[in-house]
Amino acid sequence: MFFVDRMLGKLAKKLRLLGFDTMYINNIKEEAILQLCQQTGRILITRDKTLHRKAIKKGLKSFLINSEMWRDQLVELSKVFDLRKKDKIMMRCSLCNVDLVISSNEQIRKKVPLYVQETQDVFYTCPICGRVYWEGTHVQHIFEEFRRLGF
Ligand SMILES: [Zn+2]
Repeated sequence: MFFVDRMLGKLAKKLRLLGFDTMYINNIKEEAILQLCQQTGRILITRDKTLHRKAIKKGLKSFLINSEMWRDQLVELSKVFDLRKKDKIMMRCSLCNVDLVISSNEQIRKKVPLYVQETQDVFYTCPICGRVYWEGTHVQHIFEEFRRLGF
C-alpha cells in the first residue's frame, strides 16, 4: 500500500501497527524509489518536495508530509487516507512488515517474561524476525495513542 521515505521511520512503524502494508528502506536511491512505486503501485509518502514532484510527474501517487512528529504525520495522512481499519490492528510486524501469526503458549514460553505468560493468553509472532507481540501495557499504550488521534 505505502512506500515510506527515509526520515519517516517512526511513521512507517505506526502504519504497520495500524495494519498497513508499509515498505521502508533506509538506503535507497531516488530513482529506485520511483521505480519501486511504479512497479508495485505503492503510494509514496515523503517529506522531500523534490522527490514528491518527480513522483507526481511520473504519474505516481505521492503524499507530501509537512509535520516533523509522527503523531502529526498520522493526522496529516488520515485527512487523505482512511486509517481506521481497526480489525487489522496489531496483525503486522512493525519491523518486517509481514503478517503476524497466532502462537500457542508452548512456542512463546521461552521468549516472554514470566509475568507476561501469566497475564496474557494470546500471543502473536513474526515469521521472519521471531519477535513476539502481545496486548500488554506497551501495546495498550500505543492503542491509547491511536485512540487519542481518532483511529
Ligand atoms: Zn518481524
